[in-house]
Amino acid sequence: MAAKKETEKEKTTGESRAKELMYKRTTIWEKLDKKETKKMDDFTKDYIDFLNKAKTERLAVEEGIRIAKEAGFRPISTYKKLKEGDRVYFSNREKTLFLAVIGKEPIENGIYAVGAHIDSPRLDLKPNPLYEADGMALLKTHYYGGIKKYQWTTIPLAIHGVVVRKDGNKLNVSIGEEEDEPVFCVTDLLPHLAREQANKPLREAITGEELNVLFGGIPYEDDKVKEKVKLNILDILNKKYGMTERDFTSAELEIVPAFKARYVGLDSAYVGGYGQDDRVCAYTALRAICDMGLCTKTAVCVLADKEEVGSMGNTGMESRAFEFFLADLMNLKGEYDELALKKALSRSKMLSADVDAGYDPTYASVMEKNNSCYLGEGVCVAKYSGHGGKSGGNDASAEFVGEVRKMFEENDVAWQIGELGKVDQGGGGTIAYYLADQGLDVIDCGVAVLSMHAPFEITSKADIYMAYKAYSVFMRH
Ligand code: MN
Ligand code: MN
Repeated sequence: MAAKKETEKEKTTGESRAKELMYKRTTIWEKLDKKETKKMDDFTKDYIDFLNKAKTERLAVEEGIRIAKEAGFRPISTYKKLKEGDRVYFSNREKTLFLAVIGKEPIENGIYAVGAHIDSPRLDLKPNPLYEADGMALLKTHYYGGIKKYQWTTIPLAIHGVVVRKDGNKLNVSIGEEEDEPVFCVTDLLPHLAREQANKPLREAITGEELNVLFGGIPYEDDKVKEKVKLNILDILNKKYGMTERDFTSAELEIVPAFKARYVGLDSAYVGGYGQDDRVCAYTALRAICDMGLCTKTAVCVLADKEEVGSMGNTGMESRAFEFFLADLMNLKGEYDELALKKALSRSKMLSADVDAGYDPTYASVMEKNNSCYLGEGVCVAKYSGHGGKSGGNDASAEFVGEVRKMFEENDVAWQIGELGKVDQGGGGTIAYYLADQGLDVIDCGVAVLSMHAPFEITSKADIYMAYKAYSVFMRH
């Protein structure tokens, strides 16, 4: 009798001890009340709208500025002096956007920043792209970022970008988004004749030089000219944009999926769309800073270019544009000197807001279950990135992870922590270490994605909303 009682007691104690000590995964869905669900749904709608408008880094900056202006942000060039509560933005060559809400404390005390990137894998046009072959007009492309080339065939494509004409005038090009506009396409081989192709490794089945875009097929009406189809295309381009073939050389034209972002799943749990790496973090970070009021420390949001090709160049995070922006803010506050700027950098904290690989049960073999991020379980924190023995990545300190964790847990931000796949399976980097290089405490924190870098990437709308909450909480600190 006595012995049985003891066992029951032990069992109860064990259960309560387990509850107390053991970490248990939960989904956001279990925690959301009606009010928050409504907020999440409204937020997702706006996000889908952003994805459809901001298909390139330039368009993301344009749309970002529009949203920021509505929230009271003004170009930094319009300020002679900055004071607490001022809202400013700086567009770096129309490809990177910096935004700040000036805090109560001097910038020298450090800032709280969230940095995402707005470039996504795509097909860029080569400098001499247009050619005619066997009665078809085609465009040569050079892919940008890490793509699985076969995914870019047989889908409707749109073209966006700028062309600088001979006279120096810049024109914006956008074709393929509207219902009444044509789209473009990279063709693929029919299965009936693909025996040889099917035997190739996946990465060789479609080569870079085979990513040619079908651009036209009607000849120009004149028997005397050669390459009639190409001429007809140039004639259309000339009438619409006033451009000539040579103008392609001073252009940046990007080929992206033409389809719209959509809800995915019968219950609409997910968002599917192009460019969610990393516009999901870019949009949530942007909205977070736009919705901010007064803050103690200055809050900064960075929407960067060139992450997908290594953050190089004067619009990438390896450049000193961020430092310049900070110096500019300090100068307008009358706080600038070289040492103060360096102090500011080394006392600042940043969430490197980039997507993480979501756990996909179909491809479970590359993931380690206990250290993966799951769709619908919250914003993903990655203490470190890199490959092999943690090479080439940023590693946030336990102290900083602790600070971020405390912020999230005290403010009902659902979060999870993981690594990008199994050890030695591959790896990746973000903008984190470029900022860490300048002295900031940086940690990766973003949304889990399925089919990352594919033309149609998948995220959970619960995670999107949670990222917005996480970035808001962090920048408000
Ligand atoms: Mn990314
Ligand atoms: Mn990426």
